[in-house]
Amino acid sequence: MEKGFILWFTGLSGSGKTTISQALEPELKAKGCKVEILDGDVVRTNLSKGLGFSQEDRDTNIRRIGFVAHLLSRNGVAAMTAAISPYRAIRDEIRAIEPNFVEVYVTAPLEVCENRDVKGLYAKARAGEIKGFTGIDDPYEAPLNPEIICYTEQESVEESVKKVLSKLEQLGYI
Ligand code: ADP
Repeated sequence: MEKGFILWFTGLSGSGKTTISQALEPELKAKGCKVEILDGDVVRTNLSKGLGFSQEDRDTNIRRIGFVAHLLSRNGVAAMTAAISPYRAIRDEIRAIEPNFVEVYVTAPLEVCENRDVKGLYAKARAGEIKGFTGIDDPYEAPLNPEIICYTEQESVEESVKKVLSKLEQLGYI
């Protein structure tokens, strides 16, 4: 059985988590990995349906994602998670239960994410239509020691993907 692992993407909305994880999927499959993506937006429409964005609900959402990713990982799957996961303590809680945890900090300045405004959420947050939006009126706690950092303002998607793949090779996962 292939060695499973969790590739945990964290970063502001619009930083590039979904884009990079989706671009990685075929690359990992080509290397023989079984792959699942637990995307924050998708999870919130099923596994975490009904949860809001209070700290408690966010923590529950992230713990659920971590729990499922852990089940996948221990069964040989490359489990990618792409949720903002703004709180360091919860990410570290998952790192503590998962022996094969690779954290990818996806980062671009807030104004860059805001200008991209992929889902139109920053405009709504600025207009006060969404309360407690990460980066606007809710904190984002950057990882202190991530395995990988993707600077998506400077790097192309391809460069970010290459960076992740070479780290996974170096760590012996692929
Ligand atoms: P998130 O999942 O973090 O909310 P998305 O992946 O949905 O972010 O959106 C990121 C946006 O930034 C996309 O429009 C993508 O094309 C763009 N982008 C520009 N450069 C990069 C890069 N190096 N990596 C990822 N996305 C990038």
